[in-house]
Amino acid sequence: MTASLTFLGAAGTVTGSKFLLDTGQGRLLLECGLFQGLKELRLRNWAPPPFDPAGLTAVLLSHAHIDHSGYLPRVVRTGFTGPVYCTSGTAELLRIMLPDAAHLQEEEAEYANRHGTSKHTPALPLFTVGDAQKVLGLVRPVAVNTSVAVGRGVSARFVRSGHILGAAIMEVRVGETRLVHSGDLGRYDVPIMPDPEPVPEADVLLVESTYGNRLHPREDPAALLVQAVQRAVDEKGWLLIPAFAVGRSQEVLYTLRELEETGRIPTLAVYLDSPMAIEATAIYARHPEEEDPATGPFVPRRFHLARSVQDSKALNDVDGPVIVIAGSGMATGGRVLHHLRRRLPDPRTTVLFVGYQAAGTRGRLLKDGAREVRIFGEEVAVRAQVVVSDAYSAHADQGEILRWLKGFKRPPRMTYIVHGEPEAALALREKISQALGWSATVAEAGTTVPVV
Ligand SMILES: [Zn+2]
Repeated sequence: MTASLTFLGAAGTVTGSKFLLDTGQGRLLLECGLFQGLKELRLRNWAPPPFDPAGLTAVLLSHAHIDHSGYLPRVVRTGFTGPVYCTSGTAELLRIMLPDAAHLQEEEAEYANRHGTSKHTPALPLFTVGDAQKVLGLVRPVAVNTSVAVGRGVSARFVRSGHILGAAIMEVRVGETRLVHSGDLGRYDVPIMPDPEPVPEADVLLVESTYGNRLHPREDPAALLVQAVQRAVDEKGWLLIPAFAVGRSQEVLYTLRELEETGRIPTLAVYLDSPMAIEATAIYARHPEEEDPATGPFVPRRFHLARSVQDSKALNDVDGPVIVIAGSGMATGGRVLHHLRRRLPDPRTTVLFVGYQAAGTRGRLLKDGAREVRIFGEEVAVRAQVVVSDAYSAHADQGEILRWLKGFKRPPRMTYIVHGEPEAALALREKISQALGWSATVAEAGTTVPVV
């Protein structure tokens, strides 16, 4: 039996994860992610799929993030009808994330049609909510640490990676050969999520390198949060936290409760103003088995949900001190924009960003000290205090990736570095060859390598 692997995405970049495994008896797609970010990347989502979707045996997903799952509705729209294997946590998160991604695509097409900004008439969405629903009908949740047949002569096992709920490392066996894909590796000793689990053996290894060239700060990750809460109390103002719905929002909620329990912050009203984050929090609460066994109470003592648009608008009348968590995490859209428009001009407000702020986003402008930002076509003065915490990340840093790699009992025959910008991937390759003496190479988009 021979088998080969083609790098179709997350090679030289962090999005669009897609690796095609061809065993001669079947074709499996490991990951089915959307390209995101720069326009030249996003345009790749519109090209015909670089494989025949109807000819795919199955798709395997490491986790629910859109850069790993968001191309599935497109693949289904173009003919795929096979099974999609993932963990049960991932399956639940897909139920909220894929329809949401489809909704955004429909909105974009509608906007283009209204404003005539597309070359195509009518502009069509990349995929629809209906396509996303079809994907959900194909999802086959599998238990972690259990080997399941996923094609002729091919089996797969999902091992916890600790990145977000349900996230897994995938071990794919083709005959006697073991192909291991790290997926997105989580961190060690962080709240809620377990440590990435070691995998003893791989013949061919794919390892992510998002932070392959850096180490996360070692200081107390909660220190800035404590200061920000204290400022809200002193100023009787709002603490507004733009946060991603899945993962980050839950980590912030959990940390707030822990800080209340240990007396480091007073108990304040905390509002979660994001329908998707509310659903994701419920999914996290339903899956304690996915979490670090030491995980305690999940939400702050005075916790309120703003589900409807009316609930969100009613927050306008809430005076500080109060904590409001709303999406999106980089202030590129979502309910947080309404709050920012209202609260940024108020010097009593504290805005705490808890994640990476990409170039070109409002979050980045605010982080860089903008005195004014444009929201809904208006210039909004920034008199609030803006604080950015780099302490929160769902990705292993270079040291943590190395720590996971040291769990292998023998060097893989070949290691391919994926899911990183070129500098990060190259730095990780150097580190792997220096520290471990393994043969490693940076995966190149479009290339095919032998597996068996
Ligand atoms: Zn991810």
